[in-house]
This record gives sequence, C-alpha cells and structure tokens, in this order.
Amino acid sequence: THFGFQTVAKSEKADKVADVFHSVAAKYDLMNDLMSFGIHRVWKRFTIDSSGVRRGQRVLDLAGGTGDLTAKFSRLVGETGQVVLADINSSMLKMGREKLRNLGVTGNVSYVQANAEALPFPDNYFDCITISFGLRNVTEKEKALASMFRVLKPGGRLLVLEFSKPVFDPLSKAYDTYSFHILPRIGQLVAKDAESYRYLAESIRMHPDQETLKAMMNDAGFENTSYYNMTGGIVALHRGFKF
Ligand code: SAM
Repeated sequence: THFGFQTVAKSEKADKVADVFHSVAAKYDLMNDLMSFGIHRVWKRFTIDSSGVRRGQRVLDLAGGTGDLTAKFSRLVGETGQVVLADINSSMLKMGREKLRNLGVTGNVSYVQANAEALPFPDNYFDCITISFGLRNVTEKEKALASMFRVLKPGGRLLVLEFSKPVFDPLSKAYDTYSFHILPRIGQLVAKDAESYRYLAESIRMHPDQETLKAMMNDAGFENTSYYNMTGGIVALHRGFKF
C-alpha cells in the first residue's frame, strides 16, 4: 500500500542519516571547515548574535552534534543558565561532549540523546531553541517543528540555520557543481567516505526553500516568522516566536 511504502521510505531515511553521522563523527569538524572554507563559523556567529539569549536563560541546541553553538551559548547564559545539547546520534554526542570538555565548557551544559520529532522535555521549558544544519536530516519535519513549539516558552524563539536555495542562477549552478562533484571527492580524500557527502548534497537539494520552510513554521504555530539569507541564500537563518 501507499502507506506501507511511506513507512519503509521513512525508516530508510532515518537509518541512512544514522549511518552518515556515525561515519563522519570523528572528522566532522575538520570537514566543516574544509567544505565551507571556514564560513560556517560566520553563519553560526550570526545565529548566536540573532538569538537574543541572555544570562540565566535556558537554551536547547537541537541536533547539536559537536556543539559549536552549545559552547557559545554556555558562555552567554552563564552559571545561572542552562544549555542542553540534544542529538539523536550517539557518536556525534560523544564527539561533542569530548570537545566541549577539552574546551573547558562544563557546569551549565547537559547532553541528551533525543529525536527532534519527540523531544523528552516539559512544555514551555526553553527560552530559545536552535537547530543548526539539523532539520534537513529529520524525517518528519512537521512533527519536529510541533515538538519544538511545545517545549518553547511563550515569548521564546526558534532559530533554524540550514542550507537553502541560492538566490540567483549562476550561483545556483556553481553551487550544484561544487556540492555534487567536488564535495564527495573531498569526503573521499579526507574522511574516506564519498557516499556520506553525496548524501549531504542530495539532502541539501531536497530541503524546503526559504518560503516553504517559513510556511511550515507558521503551520506549526510560530509567529512573526522571517528569514535572513547568507552567502547568497546558500544558507538561511529562519526565526519564529511562540507567543
Ligand atoms: N548542529 C551541529 C552543527 O551545526 O555543526 C551539527 C549539525 S550535523 C550536520 C546534523 C546533526 O543532526 C547530526 O549530529 C545528526 O545526528 C543530527 N540529527 C539528525 N537527525 C536527527 C533527529 N531526528 N533528531 C535529533 N538530531 C538529529
């Protein structure tokens, strides 16, 4: 049946995502710097600066992986605040925890293995939720957005940092060539894994564009939604509030 087919396709995607991140975990940070020429640091910095997070607040860094955002939030919220790094993948969580411990980021950070589609937190709990390069990998995005909405406090905000659709054609073509032909080669050379980086290119192409994601956030209940294109729309930061 149609339903049966969908179920298989969904669990296949989740298995694939699990394989990809178990495989790339050890080389994840190095590959990020190589593939984006270090620009991911700028995108993440901008996300932090747009977060409005203050001392004493509670932040969820969802699909937090190796914890780049968690490390920055940990400093922002201070001793009286709390940052939860949640990720579905045990290998990524392990890398994240080791890295942050080595950086001396401890005390106000906790680590939770969780699926974004069914967050194990109380209602109205977080002041801010970020999901950075994570939503693309989630199978049921509507379910995940609804789950984020539930655990966000009234007045809280969601920030989605994700690959999006380049805003003009020549850039779009160059970017396609880069992601489908060059990325897998870098993946093969550095991480001995071309396949995972082929998945990356495909998942970027399949991901909803700026307006579609904004509409999905509205459907989940978020208000005052907006987005900001970076690097010509290769990446966009979406923001929405729960009132
Ligand atoms: N946020 C980090 C960053 O910006 O560098 C890591 C991003 S990494 C590309 C994507 C992460 O999403 C992986 O660590 C993966 O395990 C996680 N992920 C994938 N599906 C997930 C899900 N359903 N729930 C929670 N995390 C998920």
